[in-house]
Amino acid sequence: MKIQHMLDQKGHDVHAISRRSTMEQAVGVLGEKNIGAVVVTDDDGAVCGILSERDVVRHMSRSGAGILSSSVDEYMTKNVVTCGLDGDLQDIMQIMSTRRIRHLPVVEDGKLTGIVSIGDVVKRKIELAEKEAESLKQYIAAG
Ligand code: AMP
Repeated sequence: MKIQHMLDQKGHDVHAISRRSTMEQAVGVLGEKNIGAVVVTDDDGAVCGILSERDVVRHMSRSGAGILSSSVDEYMTKNVVTCGLDGDLQDIMQIMSTRRIRHLPVVEDGKLTGIVSIGDVVKRKIELAEKEAESLKQYIAAG
């Protein structure tokens, strides 16, 4: 299944914040939107970082709640791994498992156009497995 198709089904909305946001604002977005990672963009809308709940927990456990007043720029991951609309589910699973990341922003022509999480991947895999099982049942029943 192509990423384009996945996004057509789940939507292209991405919760993103500016690199000038504070960690407190970033944590606010993670909490309010009930998401595991927020994409960080620069002034022209290009992806320049990602901050996941793991980053927040890791840095707060080391440095305490004082980090909340710092800029998100200081704590986000800057080398963001992204994928394009042309990629497929298999590519994404490979990237997520080898890189140990659970979120992949989708970038097309330099523009952020969606995000795929490990939850989306699992959902699609279950749907595909169910479809396959149904086709097999019909094939067997048809004799
Ligand atoms: P996650 O699995 O999304 O909670 O992220 C685990 C770690 O990988 C955190 O340090 C994130 O900032 C980082 N991370 C998450 N997604 C990406 C991504 N697409 N590219 C680069 N780093 C990422």
